[in-house]
Amino acid sequence: MPHLTQEQQALKASITKSAMIWAIIFGLIVAGILYWALGGQENLIRIGAAVVGGVAVFVVIFLWRKSANSTAAKCPKCNAAFSISRTDRTEVLASSEEKETREPQEDGSVKVLTWVEEVYDITDTYTCSQCNDITTKESRTTRKKDEAETIEPAKAKVPEPSSTKGAGAKQPASFKSAPEGKGAGKAAAKPKAGLKKAGPGPDSNG
Ligand SMILES: [Zn+2]
Repeated sequence: MPHLTQEQQALKASITKSAMIWAIIFGLIVAGILYWALGGQENLIRIGAAVVGGVAVFVVIFLWRKSANSTAAKCPKCNAAFSISRTDRTEVLASSEEKETREPQEDGSVKVLTWVEEVYDITDTYTCSQCNDITTKESRTTRKKDEAETIEPAKAKVPEPSSTKGAGAKQPASFKSAPEGKGAGKAAAKPKAGLKKAGPGPDSNG
């Protein structure tokens, strides 16, 4: 590999560091799972398996992240390694829309969620530190803003239009009593047949 400039070395170090952090996190998770899963084994086996598994995962993740990010940082124009980094990001508001959801609650009230949904067009600019080639990537992101939650109280079931005044008492919702069905025309229960008690058995001769 040719001699790296300071900028390239800094980018290489940052890629290595980020790959290292991911590798450590996943290595520790796998080591913990192995140690826990081998609960019935001897301590030496548990620790050994955790160490071996954790290190293996660490190596795989580290090499994978480093190689992927190094590839992304290689300039396709001048072929310089560790030369591409993001140099600018602009966000332009593309649309803004008020939204709401209404969720009926058990007590008859309605939970109303309102928010403003903003869509942004994002332009990322990447610059090669060696040949100054500039590439841009466009993407789009959606963000929620001004979220608010309100409860609409249950609608009172009083359809009379202002004939009575001042009666502000709310009727509780679901105020109904089902009439208890009484006309059960069932005849008397039939006695069960087929269940005969056997008499005293003739097993003892008198
Ligand atoms: Zn370049």
